[in-house]
Amino acid sequence: MSLPTVSTEKSAAAINEDRPTPFDVKSVRADFPILNQEAAGKSLVYLDNAATTQKPQSVIDYLNRYYALQNSNIHRGVYRLSEAATEAYEGARHKIQRFINAADHREIVFTRGTTESINLVAETFGKMRVGQGDEVVVTELEHHSNIVPWYLLCREQGAVLRHAPIDDRGDVDLDALEGLITDRTRLIAIAHVSNSLGTVVPIRNVVDIAHGKEVPVVIDGAQALPHLPVDVQDLGCDFYAFSGHKVFGPTGIGALYGRYDLLKEMPPYQGGGSMIQKVTFDEITFADPPTRFEAGTPDIAGAIGFGVAIDYLNALDLEGAFNHEHDLLDYAARTLDEIDGLRIIGTAEHKAGVLSFDLGDIHPHDIGTILDQESIAIRTGHHCAQPVMAHYDIPATARASFAFYNTREDIDRLALGVRKVLDLFR
Ligand code: PLP
Repeated sequence: MSLPTVSTEKSAAAINEDRPTPFDVKSVRADFPILNQEAAGKSLVYLDNAATTQKPQSVIDYLNRYYALQNSNIHRGVYRLSEAATEAYEGARHKIQRFINAADHREIVFTRGTTESINLVAETFGKMRVGQGDEVVVTELEHHSNIVPWYLLCREQGAVLRHAPIDDRGDVDLDALEGLITDRTRLIAIAHVSNSLGTVVPIRNVVDIAHGKEVPVVIDGAQALPHLPVDVQDLGCDFYAFSGHKVFGPTGIGALYGRYDLLKEMPPYQGGGSMIQKVTFDEITFADPPTRFEAGTPDIAGAIGFGVAIDYLNALDLEGAFNHEHDLLDYAARTLDEIDGLRIIGTAEHKAGVLSFDLGDIHPHDIGTILDQESIAIRTGHHCAQPVMAHYDIPATARASFAFYNTREDIDRLALGVRKVLDLFR
């Protein structure tokens, strides 16, 4: 009997990746089973994609098949199951490398997600480069996961955390950012796309400014990868952090892109199995990147599932999908802007995926709860971006966030729901 293997080869659709069929939201929606459900007799309108995206059937099926037929640990086994799992895991690394156009697959480190990727850089590169009296620069736009690790690093190293302000539209003040760079600045950490306002930050300009002063740049790409083509070589950044679950892959897996010359000089992040070359009680030598940073048994199924999600994206007409999303965002901004009493928070010229708003004195949690009764899922709160809320002097916003499987009908339902909220409170 031959052993079952789980193919992670591209699906028939993916094989057509050079000739994807034009983007068709109806057929795309059919790939996401969760979207095809009702609550209280109303079909689900899922507008919390910035928190996490839904998974296509191919990813769900893959995870099932992996555990049913292929589960085994990687990098160690000499038997077929283990070799197949290892090949699929390393294959996923190559898929991610190609998707973000990294120069080398060894520049992709698997992590639990954006948060861990940023912590990894802070704990290794950060500790190596940032010392007493040095400075780290972030911005007012950041998610807490691109503030707290740098705060902790600065506190530990006796360094100073500085931040560049945003303007009232939600754009980062790049002149102010440049003005903050001194001869003590050791790195800049900045989001590519804001999760609370949707602002797209001109990363190439930031990198030009920073590299002009020999300062490395860490990008939080959590909200960019689902909405924009990302090419790390073109951006020129030194590190780029992202999460699988925000790009239609499983939770619990993500990656860090790091320039290989930088990864090579960085100390380990965590110690354990797999990340070593040789261990004695007197001396331990470490493996080369990326293995050096992947101690212990990783989320094997998650990593391969992330690769399957990328196959799914490659098989789509991604340009068409991104254009559709752009159209949705425009349509949502126009539609919601017509509602008396609604204020859109974050009006940068270049935005992606996110529309935050408030309704005067009505607490965003009330908005979210009432919309839920209409089977509309949005996020309410500070979105792990309290400095952004402080900038606008508000405790929270209601946030609708889009993926390419959303439709104009979803937005019409949202607008109707918001009008209901206003009617209830008037
Ligand atoms: N950065 C941004 C901009 C985010 O939106 C998020 C999550 O919402 C994160 C970082 C953290 O991502 P994760 O929780 O997947 O690590």
